[in-house]
Amino acid sequence: LAKTTGRNCFQFYVASVDQEMRERKRLEKDLACAQQKGQFVLLYQPQVSLETGKIIGAEALLRWEHPERGLVPPDTFIPLAELNGSIVDIGRWVLDQACYQAAQWAAEGMPMRIAVNISAVQLRQHDIVETVLETLERHQLPANRLELEVTETTVMTNLEDAIAKLHRFKQKGILIAVDDFGTGYSSLTYLKRMPVQHLKIDKQFVRDLLVNEDDTRIATTIIDLGKSLNLSVVAEGVETAEQEYYLRQRGCHLAQGYFFSKPLQSQDFESFVINFHDKMIENNA
Ligand code: C2E
Ligand code: MG
Ligand code: MG
Ligand code: MG
Repeated sequence: LAKTTGRNCFQFYVASVDQEMRERKRLEKDLACAQQKGQFVLLYQPQVSLETGKIIGAEALLRWEHPERGLVPPDTFIPLAELNGSIVDIGRWVLDQACYQAAQWAAEGMPMRIAVNISAVQLRQHDIVETVLETLERHQLPANRLELEVTETTVMTNLEDAIAKLHRFKQKGILIAVDDFGTGYSSLTYLKRMPVQHLKIDKQFVRDLLVNEDDTRIATTIIDLGKSLNLSVVAEGVETAEQEYYLRQRGCHLAQGYFFSKPLQSQDFESFVINFHDKMIENNA
């Protein structure tokens, strides 16, 4: 009996892996023409200065509008795109769209810094620096309006090459942020060598900031580390007034999260900024 059960389990396992494989292949096939079909959308999440209460910029976050599946979140398709290399083209589109939008906002009298996520595969491209510079040039966007977000793991997997490229970005005035700080594999020795201006506290430490003492300590340590290395610290995933208050009191510089706003379509971002600052003026009056 045991043997039969075992066999059935095994068959069940094979069937589900097989289904998963087919599912993945379909997603990959759809992904291959997503760009050409204009199915990518870039959303913008406000980044707020905790010192001034003003919105200083946005992080650009990618969405895939699939005709049958609806909005596919990046965590599902970006790993696929990294494996098959299509992230290079997708990343170029993201960069172009983000710089276009930031230049547009500046032209409308709403200058914003724009943060763009860069994957390890993109950073490994030999022409990544030229691609970024050429995009800035095309949209006439000043270099210091662009921030590139890289994770510790992205830098560590290709250390010397990555650091050299980050230095070239810095030389041109482009800003660099370490994303998801504290979750990857890195060392303070390397952090010191990395020409970065921002540390982003991962949302996993912000979520239970006031509930879990370990998370309180980790978030606080990152803020203090930022201070001692002269880096600005950005908290991501801020969802409550209590978290915002704690981070502000602790001297965290910037924050983003649902407490302020979800990632927004570009037009909604514009009205959000106008409303947000009007409210601030009202509250101060
Ligand atoms: P990330 O760069 O760390 O982005 C932060 C994620 O947290 C985003 O998820 C954002 O929507 C979400 N988030 C923002 N505020 C809150 C909050 O208050 N609570 C919670 N629970 N979550 C919040 P999203 O947009 O699904 O993106 C996931 C990841 O996908 C990003 O993590 C980034 O690593 C990657 N990604 C997104 N867009 C791009 C892109 O254009 N290129 C590349 N290479 N990666 C991207
Ligand atoms: Mg990011
Ligand atoms: Mg992050
Ligand atoms: Mg993340």
